[in-house]
Amino acid sequence: MKVKLLKNGFLIDGTGKQPLKGIDVLIEGNKIIQIDHNIDIPTRLNNVEIDVIELDGKTIMPGMTEAHTHLTWSDSLYIQDIDFKPIEETMIDAIRNAEILIKSGFTSSVSAAARGRVDIAIRNAINKGKLIGPRLLANGAEVSASGSFVDIHPNHVRVHGLAILSDGEDAIRKTVRSLFKEGADLVKLNVSGESLTAHAPSEATLYTYKEVRAAVEEAHSRGKRVYTHARSSDSVKHCVEAGVDIIGHGDFINDEVFEMLVERKDHHFVVPALNWLVSTLEDGAKYFGQEAIDATGYREGLEIALFNMNRLYKAGVRILPGGDYGFKWCPHGGYARDLEHFVRLVGMTPMDAIVSATKYGGQIMNMADQIGTIEVGKLADILVVDGNPLDNISILQNHDRLNIIIKDGDYIVNTLEVSHNFKKPVA
Ligand SMILES: [Zn+2]
Repeated sequence: MKVKLLKNGFLIDGTGKQPLKGIDVLIEGNKIIQIDHNIDIPTRLNNVEIDVIELDGKTIMPGMTEAHTHLTWSDSLYIQDIDFKPIEETMIDAIRNAEILIKSGFTSSVSAAARGRVDIAIRNAINKGKLIGPRLLANGAEVSASGSFVDIHPNHVRVHGLAILSDGEDAIRKTVRSLFKEGADLVKLNVSGESLTAHAPSEATLYTYKEVRAAVEEAHSRGKRVYTHARSSDSVKHCVEAGVDIIGHGDFINDEVFEMLVERKDHHFVVPALNWLVSTLEDGAKYFGQEAIDATGYREGLEIALFNMNRLYKAGVRILPGGDYGFKWCPHGGYARDLEHFVRLVGMTPMDAIVSATKYGGQIMNMADQIGTIEVGKLADILVVDGNPLDNISILQNHDRLNIIIKDGDYIVNTLEVSHNFKKPVA
């Protein structure tokens, strides 16, 4: 049995409670078994070699959850690049991205779509210890209507890439059923458009309520979840009425849909993917020219998104970080930028931004009783951060400050010195 004692940390436990100084955390196997000041190692562990690590006041916090991940989007320039890249190269990139993800402090991840069965294969390999990566809710291809923003090739060219085109309730049921047969933990539905594709702008609603509801029925009958891309107000309305679990974006909601969402806030998670908008505005012109970026309407879009996220946050709707990383101007590794956007742009307190990445992360992973907070009896998914993210949330983006990353009781990263405590059993 592996035992670790983290000594003298500054504990941000993920529940939102006041942080505590001078805290020790004792981990036995994959579980947190004691949290206290100056823990005395229990005599029943006398025969066990214990890793003792002095933290000197560094922050102890739960591992974070990235709630809008695309392991198979690998820093591409165009959506077409994702489609055209052969699956073998895509797989290699995705394996690398899984490792980048956990080494960025995200011990859990909710996939918001993937090429083929790549997520599923990677999740299985991670769970068997063959690959390094986060706990992963694996997804399949994006289920989309004909003419949606991922239906990007001329009609005479058919590419089976990042999307499965399904129109009508029956076709959607068939697609969703086959994705769950393959082993997906959730499915992704593109309910609205996305303005980067000219023929299907963000304001367009591409699926009907009945089509969305068909996917939700199939998922919920199996105890699985539905994740949507939903930017237009009507698309979010369909999601709320149909019982979609995870609403991606949700940024153009009107007052009516805002009220509906608040009323049913315990049934939904909102993942605004703010970094997608912020990064595209910051760096997109470098690749596409300013005119093309202006044409997306993202500048006005970001303002509306921030207004709506601020009021959803104040109304207690669960908003999680997850930023559509995987494009050239929005590369893998930057995931913690979303927490900074929450604080600087949405108006969250740093503590609430951390809660959104940790406690809500446990909930969105369907593991609220096991991960997301540092509490006795929970699984040891833990970060040690050099510095206090409550003073400066952006330090979470600096991988060099992530001194320790533990997942399920095992070190993924440890740059601190380990001393050993070993007491002979009393005769
Ligand atoms: Zn996405």
